[in-house]
Amino acid sequence: MKKQTIVTLDLEGVLVPEIWIAFAQKTGIDELRLTTRDIPDYDELMAGRLSILNKNSLKLSDIQEVISMLTPLEGAKAFLDELRSLTQVVILSDTFLEFAEPLMKQLDWPTIFCHDLEIDGEGRVVNYRLRQPDQKRKAVEAFRGLNYSIIAAGDSYNDTTMLGEADKGFLFRAPDIVKNQFPQFKSAEEYEELMGMIKSELAG
Ligand SMILES: [Mg+2]
Repeated sequence: MKKQTIVTLDLEGVLVPEIWIAFAQKTGIDELRLTTRDIPDYDELMAGRLSILNKNSLKLSDIQEVISMLTPLEGAKAFLDELRSLTQVVILSDTFLEFAEPLMKQLDWPTIFCHDLEIDGEGRVVNYRLRQPDQKRKAVEAFRGLNYSIIAAGDSYNDTTMLGEADKGFLFRAPDIVKNQFPQFKSAEEYEELMGMIKSELAG
């Protein structure tokens, strides 16, 4: 008998814009545009981001207000709605629950596994907690252990271990450098194309 399937999706770049970059645009704080491409050490990057937030007296509520002005990528909600009518979907993201929340609301609260922030009594972001290192891959591994077949899609380097662990992995709107380095993953640029690839896996 054919196994049941879970589709695991990356969030930023697949369903919503890159949150830090969009947040930098909304707030006009250019220093927040730095990513892991500029500062490869994630702890150093996050420590810098948190100190910028505090320097600008941005509390969690201010940050969430700005993030709530962001919208999912065009067509993302319809894509996700259709996908959720066909199979189970879990979003696996390296963002934080508190940042994802305003966007999850706009997507009708899909299931998301990610990290979280430490907030002090005054609502300031004082630290971040990675729930588990390599959590995307580990979630896929765990779902497979529950006898599910996994189809995964993501756009960047931090998705490639998840894609590799899945029964089928797809790149979506990935930069050329990622596509060239991981030619084993078929890639799609539009939701319709990705939906077609997922449907054919579900049917196969
Ligand atoms: Mg991404």
